[in-house]
Parts: sequence; C-alpha cells; structure tokens
Amino acid sequence: MKWKNKGHEFDETGRALQEKKEVYLYGAVPIAQDLIKLMEWLHLGINWEVYVVDRDPAKQKNGLCGCEVLSPEAFFNREKKDALVVICTSFAVEKEIRELLKGRLAEDIPVYSHMTFLYEQLPIYFLYAHDKVFFPSENMLPSTICNLNCRDCLNFTPYIKKHHVASLEELKRNVDLFFKAVDRIYLFQITGGEPLLYKDLQSLLEYIDQNYRSQIFRLELVTNGTVMPSDSLCAYFKDKNIHIVLDDYRRAVPERAHVHERIREKFSEFQVSYLDNYVGKWFRMYIPQQEHPVLSEEELIRKFDVCGTPWCSLRDGKLSLCNYSMYADTAGICRASEDEFFDLSRYQESDKKALVEFRLRYSQKGYTEFCKQCNTWEKENVCWCDPAIQYEKEKEV
Ligand code: SF4
Repeated sequence: MKWKNKGHEFDETGRALQEKKEVYLYGAVPIAQDLIKLMEWLHLGINWEVYVVDRDPAKQKNGLCGCEVLSPEAFFNREKKDALVVICTSFAVEKEIRELLKGRLAEDIPVYSHMTFLYEQLPIYFLYAHDKVFFPSENMLPSTICNLNCRDCLNFTPYIKKHHVASLEELKRNVDLFFKAVDRIYLFQITGGEPLLYKDLQSLLEYIDQNYRSQIFRLELVTNGTVMPSDSLCAYFKDKNIHIVLDDYRRAVPERAHVHERIREKFSEFQVSYLDNYVGKWFRMYIPQQEHPVLSEEELIRKFDVCGTPWCSLRDGKLSLCNYSMYADTAGICRASEDEFFDLSRYQESDKKALVEFRLRYSQKGYTEFCKQCNTWEKENVCWCDPAIQYEKEKEV
C-alpha cells in the first residue's frame, strides 16, 4: 500500500473497532483457543466480550478457555450488539462458512479470517484503544549460513555470494531497538540460514528471554531438521517454552533423514514443544532465468497489495517491508530501496502510528524493488515444485 495519509491511515478503522463490544470466533478449534489466550494477554477482554460458535454439542457443553460456545442456531438467533465475527478455520473451509453467514448477519457486522484479524485488526485496535504497538510477527536471522542448498530457498541461499553473519552484540542491539518501539508481539521468530549453526544461539535466546519475554506471546525457532541441537539447548527450549518448527526434508535429503528422526526422539525425551512441519509443495518465488513483464508504478503497487505476504524481518536496526525483498537484497539478487525499511534507530513515540502502518504494509513507494522479479507469495503464486530440491551452484536451474 502506498501511504496517502501517513499516521492516519487507520483512523476510521480504529474508531470503528473501538465501538465493537462482542467478538464471535467461528469454530472452537486451536486457532480460536490461541486467539482467546492472545486477547487475554493483550487485556482486550476489558472492552470485548468474546464468544465462540461451533456445531459440536460437546464443545458447547464444555466451553473454550472460559468462553461460552454457542451453537450456530443460537448465534444466528441472538441479538448481537456491535459485533464482529472471526472465522477460525483453514482457507478451504473459510469459503464455506462465509457462504453460510451470507444474508444471515446484519450488514454492519464485519467478518474476518483469523489471519486478517490477527495481522490487521488486532494491531489497529491495540493502537487506537490502548495507544500501544502490537506486531503480529517478526523474524530475525542470526546468520544466512545453511548446511543445505535448496534451489527454491526463500532466503535465496544458492545465490548468496557473501553470507551475512551478525555478531551477538549486533543482534542484541536489534532486539533492544525493536522492543523499545514494539510493546507486544504475537510471534517472535528466530530463523535463518540454519539457526542451529549459529554459535551464540543460546546466548541470544537468553538475552531475549531475560529482557523481553513478557512482551512476546510466542518465541519460536525454525530449523531445517538436519542439524542436531545439543542437550543443553533442548533443555533450554523446554525450560523457557520456546516453540520449535521442525521442517521435514527427509524425502529431499534422505542422507540426513536419520538426524531428523533423532531430533524428534530427542525433542520428545526433553519434552520440547515442536511442530513437525512437512509440506508437500513449495512455491518458487524467484526463478533466475524467468522474464517478467515491465510493470508501471500502479501495476507494481497492485502486485504488492494483492501479494499480501504477512512476513517482515529485522536487521541492522531496521524493519523490512517484505522479508523476501530483504533476503533478495542480502543474496545480491536485487538492491532494495531505502523506503523499504523502517529505521528503528530513529524511532520516536510520535512515529507509533506510522510504525504500525508500515508493519501493515504501507510505505512511501507502495512496493519493493524485488516485486519486479518476484513470483509473489504463497497465496498468489502459481509456480509450485517439490520441496527442498538441492541445488549445486554450478548447475543450470
Ligand atoms: S511480490 Fe514478492 S517481493 Fe513483492 S511483496 Fe510479494 S513476496 Fe514481497
């Protein structure tokens, strides 16, 4: 999005959200549970009454995290006061529920997907109702070094000529700047490169935990599942409730499959909370020899808006408008322009609204340089392939 009224882009939405009194989470599923806990953590329950809707009688009987679970009939028949609805299901089922809601809800009741609610409405509401900055997510890379060389790595590892390895002091400074500006964050993620190869990983996690844990809802680390974490690190993950995303590349890298299996055993042994992350397909964001049509400024802005990637990265005291653009810049694929970054070292209280707007994808230009040669993020991407195909640098893709 291109800034038209910097610092006031969400004035109207902020006002409308503050008038809401009831939030209905459609689907008594783990996503709804997570949102209830998040809203509690953000103290939003002070202003909002939260209900859940689900057709399962057992769930209606038990409630969800202290919230009443209504049947769909009870929900439709009920008089709803200044309400909003959040659909807490997968994208596939969301369509079905939107159909079900169509024509049965008053026109002034907005319906959001859980992603839109988390990534847009909650930051806006938190800003306008509490005058505080809430980020849905942010990631940080201690280093771009990885032991794998995936052709379609979203960090563009095969194209990196000179790896970026941040010192522990640099990372601490980034974290300090970030939490000076951001009051609360849902997901703070350490990724890479392969973060388990970073020698000061535990010291970094300790620094974050000791100084900023109360501002983080979920502290997470992503690993490619081919590097064995030490016993002390596993004990630390468990002790500090650090969630691990364990990617599963056993099919693509069979020679490292035994490591993945051993990590799973070790995580169970140490009772580490982790997600076994197998995906059947990857999308190809960058294909070196691919030709892209030359787009006008308006077309690039539209491409950026439609793409809708929710991810943002922190580096050198700056936030990126799109993390993939920052990664492409690091890999030397394309030079990012100045306006793609929000410089936290110059942040002042009066920049609060502009900061939230930037995180919600507003900028001076309205797109990134990498948008010119990027196949867009998952939702709009049509170039899919097998995951983690290993690429030798010398070989033609
Ligand atoms: S098109 Fe690519 S570079 Fe542009 S915003 Fe989307 S993911 Fe980022």
